[in-house]
Amino acid sequence: MNDCVFCRIVAGEAPATKVYEDDAVCAFLDIRPITRGHTLIVPRIHAGELDDLDPELGARIFRTGHRLARAVRYGGLDGDGANLILNDGVAAFQTVGHVHLHVVPRRHGDKLSFAKGFLLRRPHDPVSTAAAIRAGLTALDAAEDEGVN
Ligand code: 5GP
Ligand code: ZN
Repeated sequence: MNDCVFCRIVAGEAPATKVYEDDAVCAFLDIRPITRGHTLIVPRIHAGELDDLDPELGARIFRTGHRLARAVRYGGLDGDGANLILNDGVAAFQTVGHVHLHVVPRRHGDKLSFAKGFLLRRPHDPVSTAAAIRAGLTALDAAEDEGVN
């Protein structure tokens, strides 16, 4: 195993609160969240920057980000939207050298708490936060099955 922390999280060799995983991607809570539910989606195989990433895998990452952003609106987080951000390269402030897409849940009127979260980056209760996101994914699946969305 290499010394990449996100590879170790994917392999279960470093602790993280995972909210979703499949054969291509893994999503887990950011250790220093800007808002409650701030999640990172990473490819299971190591790719340092977008230049190293198979575009099909990039599409899988975005697809998962899309689902998680929607789940924020369906589950216990009561979100109204989300910022999806990918910092590609050190020049763009990428600090962990394994491609990752941020999903940062937002609420109407959260400008002040967002700014505070951006400065403090304090963790929220990971167990209840992950449960709220998983509930959102389940509710989203149910809505899709019923043809509502
Ligand atoms: P970047 O600036 O590279 O786009 O963001 C890296 C993100 O990874 C940061 O938001 C940081 O809090 C998060 N992070 C760094 N190390 C760890 C870790 O060991 N576990 C988790 N869950 N998140 C991490
Ligand atoms: Zn890695």
